[in-house]
Amino acid sequence: MRVALITVGDEILSGDTVNTNAAWLGERLTASGADVERMTVIPDRVAGIARIVNEFRAEYDAVIITGGLGPTHDDVTMEGVAAAFGTELEADKAAEQWLAEEAGYSGDDLAPETTHIPADAEFLPNPEGVAPGCVIGNVYVLPGLPAEMKAMFDLVADEFGGDARYVETVETPEPESELLDRIETLREQFDVIVGSYPGEHVKLKIQGYDEETVTEAAAWLEANRLRRACFRRRPASRSGAAYPAI
Ligand code: ATP
Ligand code: MG
Repeated sequence: MRVALITVGDEILSGDTVNTNAAWLGERLTASGADVERMTVIPDRVAGIARIVNEFRAEYDAVIITGGLGPTHDDVTMEGVAAAFGTELEADKAAEQWLAEEAGYSGDDLAPETTHIPADAEFLPNPEGVAPGCVIGNVYVLPGLPAEMKAMFDLVADEFGGDARYVETVETPEPESELLDRIETLREQFDVIVGSYPGEHVKLKIQGYDEETVTEAAAWLEANRLRRACFRRRPASRSGAAYPAI
C-alpha cells in the first residue's frame, strides 16, 4: 500500500514547529508494512491544499493530511479537502452527537464550524480533543496537535498495511566511501533494500520481505565488517594505508 502524507501549517514551513507528526506517521506506517512514498508540507491555504490533495489521492492508495482543523481563522484544511472533492462543508450529525454524548459539549459551547466536515465524509472522533477528523475517499484528515493526531490515527491504523517487512541493522566504524563495493555486492547477492546512514558509525539498514534472506544478508555484511575491522587493527592501518579491498 502506497501512502502519501501532507502536513499543513505555516508554522512548520517557518521552522517554528518541528514536523514530528510526519516522522511519527512515517514510522508507524512503515512498521505496519505500508510504503510511505511522499511527505509534503504546505501552507494554510485552501487552493494549495485542494491541489495537493487532488494530486496525491489520484496517485497513492491513501493520503493522510494533518493540521489546520480547529475553528481559528487559519484552520482551512477541511475547506481545502472539500474543494478537492468538489463538495461543500456541512455540519455533521455524528460529530455533533459524539461531541455532546462522549465529550460533554452542547452546540452552544462550540463554534458552529467545529462540526463542519466535507459532505459525504465519514466523521472521525477526536479522543484527545474537540476538532473532529474525517475520512473521505482515500483521504484521512487528522488534527495537528500531536497527541490528538496519534489518538485519531489509532482509530484507523488497521486500514493501513502491507506485506510484513524484516529489518536488520549492522553498524560499522568504517567511512561510508569504504563500504560502496560491499553494499553493491549485498544488493546483487540478496533480494534486499539497503539504506546507509552515516553518523559517528555508519548504520546499514537491510530490509526485505523474506526473513531468512534478510538474516543471511546481515550475517554476510557482519562477517565482512569484522574482517575489515581486523584489518583496521593491523599495523599497516596505523600508517594511514588504505584498507585492502575485499
Ligand atoms: P486545533 O483544533 O487544536 O487548532 P489543529 O488540527 O487545527 O488543532 P493546528 O492548528 O494545525 O492543529 O496545530 C496545532 C498545534 O499542533 C500547533 O501549534 C503545533 O504546535 C502542533 N502541530 C501542528 N502540526 C504539527 C506537526 N506536523 N508536527 C508537530 N506538531 C504539530
Ligand atoms: Mg488550529
